[in-house]
Amino acid sequence: MPGERATATGTRSVLQDGASMLAARPHIEPRRVPGADSVVVSEIYLSLQGESSHQGLLCSFVRLTGCHLRCRWCDSAFAFRGGTRMAVADVVERVKALGSPRVEVTGGEPLLQPGVYPLMEALLAEGLVVLLETSGAIDVRLVPSAVHKIVDVKCPGSGEADRNDWRCLESLTGRDELKFVLASRQDYEWAKACIAERGLERGPAGLLFSTVHGELSPTDLAEWIIADRLPVRFQLQQHKVLWAPDARGV
Ligand code: SF4
Repeated sequence: MPGERATATGTRSVLQDGASMLAARPHIEPRRVPGADSVVVSEIYLSLQGESSHQGLLCSFVRLTGCHLRCRWCDSAFAFRGGTRMAVADVVERVKALGSPRVEVTGGEPLLQPGVYPLMEALLAEGLVVLLETSGAIDVRLVPSAVHKIVDVKCPGSGEADRNDWRCLESLTGRDELKFVLASRQDYEWAKACIAERGLERGPAGLLFSTVHGELSPTDLAEWIIADRLPVRFQLQQHKVLWAPDARGV
């Protein structure tokens, strides 16, 4: 049946795997804190949106510091620590000065900081299109509904698949997207099973498939999607095509 796969312990589904592993590493709960009106910022810059249906559009980015995950292929490890604490109002002014009608709040894992909620609300209040890129490891129920949520689903190749907080699925709307970053054929099969088992193709959110740069051929992924007639959007990691793989501020 869909989702079953051979493991060291026998044939299990991705649902069973997620449930048993969760017991080892409990999820962090999202939280708002009264008076939290600042965030620790790694960088703010202007570029082109790279990994969603907004791909290619002018976009400001606010990258917040800190992440509790360690994806094997992470390209943002520089944002794990450091950064500058800034008032929400100052972040909004910096974003407005960049001149894009669109802004993405990213990380790290931006939902670790309670100040991210007032930040997203303040950006929306300026009339900006607000995107949130999040790991999928923290429930998104506190995110303002007008925000376009781009929620990762961590595949086994990331080393963090047990961190997926499936409660995220309950808060998704038609403006949101689920993003699978695939490092191998095994990740692809796992993602396909996940979509089937959880009925994601019938859900409101768009489905994105992209490859880990240098690990999985985009051509192979494109051919698998076509052969399986999957209802997903194929994506190239645009910034790695346009700029050096380790370039910052792009
Ligand atoms: S969730 Fe994002 S920032 Fe955190 S380790 Fe994974 S890829 Fe890196």
